[in-house]
Amino acid sequence: MVSRHNQKRSIDITIAWFGTLTITDFDGVSRKISADPRNGSKPQLIEAGRSFGVIRLVSDPPHWLDDGH
Ligand SMILES: [Zn+2]
Repeated sequence: MVSRHNQKRSIDITIAWFGTLTITDFDGVSRKISADPRNGSKPQLIEAGRSFGVIRLVSDPPHWLDDGH
């Protein structure tokens, strides 16, 4: 079966952190992400991922994939 996984274009990863996560997005903007939920469902984290062309699949929470470009 062909999937983004065996094409090496997706990853299943569980993300969590304590306190404030500081992440630099693709545009070089430093973003601080705090307050629950401190996990992959955090909209600001999803937005930062999207700046790199990485999309989180809502129907399969740990699954992040490229946007096909
Ligand atoms: Zn997956």
